[in-house]
Amino acid sequence: MYKKPLIQTLRSRLFETNGIKADTLRLDLIHPHVSGNKWYKLKYHITEALAAGKKGLLSYGGAWSNHLVAMAFACNEMGLRPAAVIRGEEPQVYGPALQQMKDLGMELVFVSRAEYKDKIILPGYEDYQVVPEGGSGDLGIKGASEILKEVQGDYSHIICAVGTGTTMAGIVNSAHHDQHVMGISALKVGDTTNNELLQYIRAHTTKNNYSMQFGYHFGGYAKRTDELIEFMNRLYAEEKIPTDFVYTGKLFYAVYNLLLSGYFPHNSHLLVIHSGGLQGNRGLPSGTLDYQ
Ligand SMILES: *Cc1c(COP(=O)(O)O)cnc(C)c1O
Repeated sequence: MYKKPLIQTLRSRLFETNGIKADTLRLDLIHPHVSGNKWYKLKYHITEALAAGKKGLLSYGGAWSNHLVAMAFACNEMGLRPAAVIRGEEPQVYGPALQQMKDLGMELVFVSRAEYKDKIILPGYEDYQVVPEGGSGDLGIKGASEILKEVQGDYSHIICAVGTGTTMAGIVNSAHHDQHVMGISALKVGDTTNNELLQYIRAHTTKNNYSMQFGYHFGGYAKRTDELIEFMNRLYAEEKIPTDFVYTGKLFYAVYNLLLSGYFPHNSHLLVIHSGGLQGNRGLPSGTLDYQ
């Protein structure tokens, strides 16, 4: 059910001409539905829940959450019941992610934005293991720290997409001191030097061999531009790597953009973590991407 991820070398001449080698870790290929990094973040919640004899997993998120869809699939495979508290009113017509959660038997409880903030544990769900929003927190980070176990190579830079920062924190914790971990934020922040995301990473890591790029959000979380979509189509044509417009499209765009601006020193060896998320593209009008 879970396949070992593949390492794919990027062939674009751009890398060679700049004296740089680049690989991508295709976590998008480990499972058709439990998107890449989400599986790693859920792993220890699942083992804990099973060991403690819990009935299921309860988590939080929005109606488009990749995390909740992944959790619903993983619960079904592991014999746990999936439940979710969804932020906002129940929509009249379910979007694809919400519909999938429902089809997978996930119990959905819609709460107002104000109630959602309190992250209430609903009555009746006391024997569910609570998974923090987005799979964040210590168990998520512990799972994400196993991502680098999949790779050998002596990479100088490890680059990943960032939402909550959980995946990145796990990678920072498991990377070597002489490796630089770079996060590409999918969120737009006002203050790029001190914000919740950076505080979260700082609080959950013991090293400081990392940096965050805040300039590749393309307007904000789940926003897009034609330039981004064109880049994603070109990347697919050149490298046969499908990306999503929320996270990994922006990640790869940033890598190419930083490369062209001379950011990476000669002889750098890059590892780009493809964290999955392709189902996010279902929200796009058909025909937008050449590989949908
Ligand atoms: C959820 C998601 C992320 C963000 O992961 P965090 O651990 O929350 O930072 C990155 N990439 C993809 C494809 C995702 O679905």
